[in-house]
Amino acid sequence: MSDSSSMIVFENVEKRFGDHVVLRDLDFTVAPGEFVTLIGPSGSGKTTILRLLMTLERVNAGRIHVGGECLTHMPKGDREVPANEKHLRRMRKRIGMVFQQFNLFPNMDVLQNVTEAPVRALGLSKQDAEARAVELLELVGLGDKVREHPSRLSGGQQQRVAIARALAMRPEVLLLDEVTSALDPELVAGVLKVLKDIATTTDITFLCVTHEMQFARDVSDRVLMFDRGQVIEDAPPEKLFTDPDHERTREFLHAVL
Ligand code: ADP
Repeated sequence: MSDSSSMIVFENVEKRFGDHVVLRDLDFTVAPGEFVTLIGPSGSGKTTILRLLMTLERVNAGRIHVGGECLTHMPKGDREVPANEKHLRRMRKRIGMVFQQFNLFPNMDVLQNVTEAPVRALGLSKQDAEARAVELLELVGLGDKVREHPSRLSGGQQQRVAIARALAMRPEVLLLDEVTSALDPELVAGVLKVLKDIATTTDITFLCVTHEMQFARDVSDRVLMFDRGQVIEDAPPEKLFTDPDHERTREFLHAVL
């Protein structure tokens, strides 16, 4: 399970909130460069998985590995102990996330939004960070908006700034949490196109939670169907969406498609 050729490994992960077991004995892996989408009913634990990877939550049992390194635990002498803040901070740099709400800094312009973290957290010079930010903003189709403030942009444009901001940190893994849910329908396609372009032209590993089944079908290498905190089906999209093995998957797809 925890072979070092995987980019993400969940190994017997359990996550509880009080008595409520959200993830139980969860095992899955994601290979480097793979695009994996998590689908399943609301409340099945998908966002919790992304939050564990972002170290916004801690596991109750099990291990998570990212890029061949344990995220949740660290060595201490000849033992393993839960990761401390310093270890988590270092690991977090390898992972980017784009949220449903774009969470841009409202008091900064677009360029500053994209350069702030690389300067502060990666130690890039302002000049290098700006050159890279402009490239990324061009990549997401916002080369002409670098000096705009977020409030003057559409939701789709703001989300594309958030994508550029995440990429500016050069993550090995990019987590996408319902990134189009807060957008007006006519803005969804532009954001999904940008993500597809990035997924197909970079070696970033993607873990994506989405209700956009067509997008999931279009870009994913694998789709994992979740139910009550466990993976009940793991298949390429062409199999999972057309000929799922599980009745539960069929019911879910029937309800959402
Ligand atoms: P999904 O993303 O599949 O909709 P979530 O991971 O958001 O599911 O939530 C899974 C379950 O965990 C839900 O029952 C939710 O209410 C619960 N949960 C998530 N976060 C918390 C929290 N901070 N405190 C208590 N319960 C939580």
